[in-house]
Amino acid sequence: MPSSKNSDDIDASTTNTLCSFPLLITIAILLPCIATLLAILGLAPQRATTIGIDLGTTYSVVAYKDPSTKKIVMIPTDGRSYTSSSASSSTSHLLTPSIVAYTTSETNDNNDKIYVGREAQAYLTTSPKNTIYNSKRLIGRKYTDVNGDTTLSSMPHQFGLLNQTDKDSNAGFILDNGKIISPVEVASKIISTLVNAADTFLGHSNARKVIIAVPAQFNTVQREATALAFTNAGLKVVNMLEEPTAAAIAYGLQNQPHVHNVLVYDFGGGTLDVSLLWMHVGSVQVIGTDGDTNLGGSDFDKCMVELLHQKGRLDNCDMSHLRKIAEQVKRKLSTSTSTIASCGDGIRLSSFQKYKVERSHFEEQCGPLFSKSLEPVTRLLQDQNMLKEDIDEVVLVGGTTRIPKIRNMLKHYFNGRSPKFDIDPDLAVAYGAAMFSA
Ligand code: ADP
Ligand code: MG
Repeated sequence: MPSSKNSDDIDASTTNTLCSFPLLITIAILLPCIATLLAILGLAPQRATTIGIDLGTTYSVVAYKDPSTKKIVMIPTDGRSYTSSSASSSTSHLLTPSIVAYTTSETNDNNDKIYVGREAQAYLTTSPKNTIYNSKRLIGRKYTDVNGDTTLSSMPHQFGLLNQTDKDSNAGFILDNGKIISPVEVASKIISTLVNAADTFLGHSNARKVIIAVPAQFNTVQREATALAFTNAGLKVVNMLEEPTAAAIAYGLQNQPHVHNVLVYDFGGGTLDVSLLWMHVGSVQVIGTDGDTNLGGSDFDKCMVELLHQKGRLDNCDMSHLRKIAEQVKRKLSTSTSTIASCGDGIRLSSFQKYKVERSHFEEQCGPLFSKSLEPVTRLLQDQNMLKEDIDEVVLVGGTTRIPKIRNMLKHYFNGRSPKFDIDPDLAVAYGAAMFSA
């Protein structure tokens, strides 16, 4: 059989020509050949070709496995780096808000400008209908289903049929100008932003394969719609994990011989998802799920707003500002037992208000939310005919699991055994997805 000519081969005629070229040009031509040769011999730094993405309801995260060190690296969107050894440092620069704002350019009305992530956040108050968040809650769902979902009623958006002539078609977001935007398109925009961050961080555009994670409760249509968003963003989906599986993989639990039953407790911005996994010699299976689609971090924010908006506290503060303050205070109370909440500026002193919030006060005020947080765990164990003692490990995922009372309640519930949270709960899913790459 004739052997095909290797593109790296340089035949005699080419070599002769090269000799007559100026030295710099010769080097420029030879360098890629040398790099290829070194890569074949395993002597050159390899380039990552696969990334792991957690396309979250509230925040999205991208990570990759360094081919040389095999360490997981979380990719920042602001140029700073993070490795597995700095798990306790602040991670806000690694989280891209899953928000897309559709605005019109100030100079040209016909020129739509699209902002993603932190840049889009600013439009939440100024242009609420054109600023899409929570799109993951709509992806792959029919209009009739979405329209009847009361858990979506607090969103400022109106939903419409993606295909006006088909009453059975999926739901999209209606913008101020009447245009209907599909959740798949919103997701693609977020994904493209993460991929751009990855390209900048890696210094090349070779990472076009992706491992993705979807909620265990997602049906086939929701999974396909999510995969389509990745494909539309120019990526090849090489694996689709379930989010709790990715979190368990992040801890390597599938390879621990005495660990079989794992409960993954994922408390995010808008929902609580509890999953029961069964693992055996490296394989992981989701055997049951429960949760509360109407309970998440934003409910604790609302509860904090109620606490702060009382007479003599921050009662003069305008609502949109107060909501931001409430979330910051809630986060602060996860690491401090008290904090000062303030509203207003130092210029108009008459309107300046401040109030000291104790963690215990927050816990008391939001007592009913805390009680609801354990209900899905009890239900799931009952449904699976399992006892608390049957659970070998509990893994925490999602920003809301940073609230100390949530951690303590779970520890107490599982008879004093501490749940796992050494990998940042905001990052665990992307971390596990990246670990899954070859
Ligand atoms: P999702 O899976 O929905 O995308 P995340 O897992 O990123 O969401 O969680 C986002 C939620 O976590 C938000 O409601 C945010 O306020 C909350 N959160 C983040 N950090 C903290 C913290 N330190 N203390 C309490 N809540 C936090
Ligand atoms: Mg999440």
